[in-house]
Amino acid sequence: MTTTDPTPAISPLAVPMVAQLARYNPGTAGGVNLADNTNLWGTPPTAARVIAEGVAGVASYPSLYGEPLKAAAAAWLGVAPDEIVTGCGSDNILDAAMRAFAPGGATVAFCAPTFVMVPKFTTLAGAVPRPIPFRENGDIDADALVAAQAAITYVCAPNNPTGVQPSDDAVAQVLREAPGLVIIDEAYAEFSGRTWAADAVAHGRLLVARTLSKAFGMAGVRAGYAVARRDVIAAIERTRGPYTLNALAEQGAAAALTHDLPWMQARVADALEIRGRVATALEGLGMRPLPSAANFLCVPVAGAPAIAEALRGQGLLVRAFAGLPGIGDALRITIGPWDVMTRLLSALEEMR
Ligand code: PMP
Repeated sequence: MTTTDPTPAISPLAVPMVAQLARYNPGTAGGVNLADNTNLWGTPPTAARVIAEGVAGVASYPSLYGEPLKAAAAAWLGVAPDEIVTGCGSDNILDAAMRAFAPGGATVAFCAPTFVMVPKFTTLAGAVPRPIPFRENGDIDADALVAAQAAITYVCAPNNPTGVQPSDDAVAQVLREAPGLVIIDEAYAEFSGRTWAADAVAHGRLLVARTLSKAFGMAGVRAGYAVARRDVIAAIERTRGPYTLNALAEQGAAAALTHDLPWMQARVADALEIRGRVATALEGLGMRPLPSAANFLCVPVAGAPAIAEALRGQGLLVRAFAGLPGIGDALRITIGPWDVMTRLLSALEEMR
């Protein structure tokens, strides 16, 4: 037996790419979570039952690539199962897509501010994020996105954190003229009612990503899926790897897309109705929420981080952004049941 330590010294954060990545910290512990845009009405009933029953089977691995969810999503969207990729949340799919389609040094273009994980996944892929300002009217700048000639052009529809929906014309221009892979992130599309999923296969270089975490009330199981032509799907599955969707997630998500659509649609209707009431109330407090097509409102307000901290003291957790490009400080507030919203509105009113 040798006395020398066989473990080589490891210098934490010695890899520059890792050193520049902060740990994710949404600040969502200890209160009503109005910060993650999840479904505050709960979990769909069939999915909940299937997940509970599925516990008996967890001694076995799940399917390799989420086959039950592929089948259910394909049936829902009217495509073939091999035109669907699944993942441990749509995060997993976006990450795998970046690694499959943005080689080292390649550009990933997107209008900013957008989903915070996009530049992180870009960096992890060894690619270079190219943030482009939104147009003054809040639309994506299709000319600038196309001019970037990126390996991947990412469009978030509706956009997180603003909630604004890109115009059909601008998205059509990107789909016509952008080279490489185009990703349309439809994490909130159930709320906007506008989807490009039906265009993905015929387009050939379009990946439309969806999640069970928002309208479907299943953020805790981590399930997402995306639709694209089968060669695009096959490439992403190579970088995603097998078994990333666990057995309870693949069964629960498949059940939700097959049996719980009416439940989801009713929750979406609730969220849209309450979103209108909350927007009106915020305007009454002198605020100007951005026009939202999602289940949250982005509210530009000076000193947003301090306001969020004060709300935290009352058990209400909202997301604060400091100095968003083109917007400034802003709160992002998830829409939930009306009794929760009235608590939030009263707290904001008292702070005036
Ligand atoms: N895209 C957008 C725009 C999001 O807001 C989120 C969640 N915050 C995701 C993707 C990732 O969702 P998940 O990994 O839970 O499917």
